[in-house]
Amino acid sequence: TLEVIGLKKSFGTVEVLKNVSLQVAKSEMVFVLGRSGSGKSTMLRCCNRLEEPNSGDILLEGEKITGRGVNLDRLRRRIGMVFQSFNLYPHLDARGNVTLALRKVLKLSRDEARARADTALARVGLADKAENYPSQLSGGQQQRVAIARAIALEPAVMLFDEPTSALDPELVGDVLGVMRELKQDGMTMLVVSHEMAFAREAADRVVFMADGEIVEEGPPEDLFGNPQHERTRAFLARYS
Ligand code: ATP
Ligand code: MG
Repeated sequence: TLEVIGLKKSFGTVEVLKNVSLQVAKSEMVFVLGRSGSGKSTMLRCCNRLEEPNSGDILLEGEKITGRGVNLDRLRRRIGMVFQSFNLYPHLDARGNVTLALRKVLKLSRDEARARADTALARVGLADKAENYPSQLSGGQQQRVAIARAIALEPAVMLFDEPTSALDPELVGDVLGVMRELKQDGMTMLVVSHEMAFAREAADRVVFMADGEIVEEGPPEDLFGNPQHERTRAFLARYS
C-alpha cells in the first residue's frame, strides 16, 4: 500500500502540488490523468524522493518514507520507477542493464544476478533479446527492458510516468500488455498515462488532477462514464 497524505510542493513561488492525497492499495492499479503541468510527474517523483515535498507525508506499507532518516537506496529498491525515456545504458546489453542494479544495489553474485535478470526479461517477453544492446532494440523493447530492470528488484510498488508516450503507436500495445500482466501477478502500480482505453479496461481507479489538486477520482466506469466535475468533463472531451 502506498499512501500520499496532504502533499504540497512548490518550485519558487509556484505551487505545483497544493494538497494531494491518494492511496494505492496492495495489488491495485491506479491511473492519474491530467493536463500538462498539473503536477503528475512531480507527485510521482515525490514518492521515490526524486523531489522533496514541502509538506505532507508518504507511507509505504505503513512506513513513513518522507522526512529525515529514510534510507533512499532501500526506498528506491522498494519503489520501482519507469519513465517516458527509458534511460538504459547504451554500452550494456539488455541483460547487463538489468543485472547492474542487482549487482550494485542488491549485491547479488554474478550468477544470481544473471539468473534473476533472465527471469525478469522473460517476464516482459524478451528472453531472446538478453544480448541485444539498446540500439538493437525497438522503443517498446527498450521500455520493456526498463520495466524488467525495475521488477527484478522485486519492488512493493511500481510507478510509471507516461511509459508509452515516447513510443510509436504500434509498439504501445506490447508495453501495456506487460503492465496488464504485472497487474495480474498482483503488482501495486501508480500510473501516469493518457492511454484512456487501457485505463478504462485495466485500472482499478482513476484519479484526475488539475492545477496541483485531485479534482475527482473513482472507478474507471464512473470517472469516464459519468464524470462529476466540469473540469473532468472538459479534460475528457479533449483527450478521449
Ligand atoms: P506533463 O503532462 O507535461 O508531464 P505534469 O503534470 O507531469 O505535466 P509536472 O512535470 O509535475 O507536470 O510539472 C508541474 C509544474 O511544475 C509545471 O508548471 C512545471 O513547469 C513545474 N516544475 C516541474 N519541475 C520543476 C522544477 N524542477 N523546477 C521548477 N519548476 C518545475
Ligand atoms: Mg509529467
